Amino acid sequence: MLLYALFLSVLFYSCKEKETTTPQKKPNIIYIMSDDHTTQAFGIYGSRLAGLNPTPNLDQLAKEGMIFDNAFVNNAICVPSRAAIITGQRAQTNGVIDLEGAIAPEKQFLPKEMKKLGYQTAIIGKWHLHHEPAAFDYYQVLPVQGTYFDPDFRIRGDKPWTENIVKTKGHSSDRIMDATLNYLKNKRDKDKPFFLMHHFKAPHDDFEYAPRYENYLADTFIPEPKSLYEIGNHGSEAVRGKNDSLTRIIGSSVSHRNLIRNQAMNIYWNDSTVYKKYRNANDIGQDELVKWQMDTTEKAYTSKVYQDYLKKYLRCVKGVDDNIKRLLDYLKTEGLLENTIIVYTGDQGFMLGEHDYIDKRWMYDEAMRMPFFVRYPKTIKAGTRTDAIINNTDFAPTLIELAGGQTPEYMQGKSFKNILETGIEPENWPKATYYRYWMHLAHRHQNPAHFGIRTKDYKLIFYYGKYWVDTDNPNATWNKKSWGNDFTHHTPPAWEFYDLKKDPKEMNNAYDDPENKAIISDLKTQLVQLRKNLNETDVNYPHIQKVIDAHWND
Ligand code: CA
Repeated sequence: MLLYALFLSVLFYSCKEKETTTPQKKPNIIYIMSDDHTTQAFGIYGSRLAGLNPTPNLDQLAKEGMIFDNAFVNNAICVPSRAAIITGQRAQTNGVIDLEGAIAPEKQFLPKEMKKLGYQTAIIGKWHLHHEPAAFDYYQVLPVQGTYFDPDFRIRGDKPWTENIVKTKGHSSDRIMDATLNYLKNKRDKDKPFFLMHHFKAPHDDFEYAPRYENYLADTFIPEPKSLYEIGNHGSEAVRGKNDSLTRIIGSSVSHRNLIRNQAMNIYWNDSTVYKKYRNANDIGQDELVKWQMDTTEKAYTSKVYQDYLKKYLRCVKGVDDNIKRLLDYLKTEGLLENTIIVYTGDQGFMLGEHDYIDKRWMYDEAMRMPFFVRYPKTIKAGTRTDAIINNTDFAPTLIELAGGQTPEYMQGKSFKNILETGIEPENWPKATYYRYWMHLAHRHQNPAHFGIRTKDYKLIFYYGKYWVDTDNPNATWNKKSWGNDFTHHTPPAWEFYDLKKDPKEMNNAYDDPENKAIISDLKTQLVQLRKNLNETDVNYPHIQKVIDAHWND
């Protein structure tokens, strides 16, 4: 009996000792983000392109975890999206409203918080937040956008950060993955968990793919969206002008419709007499701003441009997907796969010809929705999906909580760790998300500035236009250069409302339908509240607020 008690106590103490000396190992985290990889260009999101099987490796990864159907960006353009991700804050709190915005090391909150939790932190690939990513323990990043071929990278060194350059040969997607594998193999401290942000440059324009993809989809007809040819009742006076008088200068297009920028001139640049003639919006004469009509010849031409556009884009996507396999194979071989949380997203969506648009910036779903999925079999069930609305300021809080921390007070996003682990959207989870695009008519993509609210069922957008003549100060203009300089053609303020259950492709702006009066009024109330709660009012931009007030009840 005594012997038995002794045996038990030895067993107890040895177990206890084992517990204290080998604590539960924290998971590693790899956050993978591509640039402009939109949900239409996946298998898992069920778009018209899903049948092409554009992302077999990413689809497999997604199916082993949870897929988010309603992940949205705060502003569908690179720098503001990346700033929101790294700070967990909205634009007017982190100060990044446009492409010129920058995040200084002391505000690189996500890596700072991960370090506090015992993680070694690294960022590899596209960074684009202008200051040195000094809050990370390790970095190897592209200068600004970087190049698709033979990319240079900046690394930490003795000289100022912009001067410590590593030169490489080949395609950026391959070289960025090489850098990540090199970090995992040779650069990290293998006794500590790691938090790695791996950011591809692809498939951002100009869609330069690796030569090995030259024949990929070469003989395949790429399914076209109906809205490439038929605009229907999509849009408003803000994007079409009164009686469609602005269709030729608003929203860069696939077809020849937009005289200032269209994909035809991007692809066939040297052939572009159009571009040469309309280099500046100011060069366009009134006689040329005729109502746009897509005739038979133009349809055939548009189809050709679209096919070319999509093939280039999807070849870049293929390069991303193939490199994901390299990463997964490595993690598996090293026995790292099961203890590593893998997140995949794009920094925003992209218009692939829907409504005859190219590029992003719009609050339309194709641009505003982000692909987002997470694999971690220990706590996230395979094959799960949620329609809970999340946005990119929620990413940092979630990653911090997955790493064992608490969401810092100064972050505006909310952790959705609970949704990942239970599949259940909590009762008090936000039912709407806020969006704001600032850079009015910038970069010849010609998108009017706007903001709005999206719920699971509805979307309300207000375009506040740009060049509002202030009668007290007629020479005043609120635009920075980066918000556009089109002083000839100002866009009228206008509202758009889409009933997404009835009209998921946003073909019918139903703002004026009396049936929607009550819901629109409710959405406006929610929108005002969201702007207040998120510190996103225009208190620092009274000239904009003036337009908002003047047109709120239009
Ligand atoms: Ca982007």
